[in-house]
Amino acid sequence: MHFHVITLLPEVCQTYTDASVLGRAQKTEKGKGAKQRGKKISVSYYNPRDFTKDKHRKVDDKPYGGGPGMVMKAEPILKAWQKAVGRKKEALAAKKVKTLIMSPRGKEFTQDLAKKYAKQYDHLVLISGRYEGIDARVQKALNAEEVSVGDYVLTGGELPALTIIDSTSRQIEGVLGDHDSLEDERATTGETYTRPEVIEHKKKKLKVPAVFLGGNHAEIEKRRQNIK
Ligand code: SAH
Repeated sequence: MHFHVITLLPEVCQTYTDASVLGRAQKTEKGKGAKQRGKKISVSYYNPRDFTKDKHRKVDDKPYGGGPGMVMKAEPILKAWQKAVGRKKEALAAKKVKTLIMSPRGKEFTQDLAKKYAKQYDHLVLISGRYEGIDARVQKALNAEEVSVGDYVLTGGELPALTIIDSTSRQIEGVLGDHDSLEDERATTGETYTRPEVIEHKKKKLKVPAVFLGGNHAEIEKRRQNIK
């Protein structure tokens, strides 16, 4: 899966996608035979500012019809999209490219959508807004889907884009280790503990419940799923 992120803040996002699990998934792991693992994902960034022509590299302007704030201009975003996937003729024809616009008014992003994206597409383009949003013609021109990560308003689409990349990547085979993949079969792991057996906080002792220390896995599972 190739993620293409259109954002005014590529450095901010890249720090996140280069770290930990997502960072590892972008590298070829050296090793002999089966231990050798190819790249599972790639992440590319495109800054609309690099696709402006004027001296001030202007990416925003006042809204038609008045109103507060500024709106992101359509053309630099459309050019960035063109650079990202515009020439992927085969993938576009085979409907393997999906374009998403981050918007608090969009369709709610869920675990099921993450699974669907991972299964269905080779390229996911994520367009991240700033200011008061994006010129509506971007959605029309690209036939893009507007997605929201929740019923609240953020200052930009960077966290939503990262959220979607993160949860979609977890659904791609080989991104998580084998152990983690098994864990992912259920929605969440539930109540969980690690060493040490007893900790002290404000003079109170907090122990790991006895059931977790025994070997009865059915009981442990029951306990985990009951309390959440
Ligand atoms: N006034 C605008 C809000 C702009 S918020 C409106 O009513 O739509 C600035 C940008 O942050 C948006 O363009 C969008 O890309 C992003 N954003 C904010 N909240 C979001 C959310 N819950 N989900 C997805 N993107 C969001």
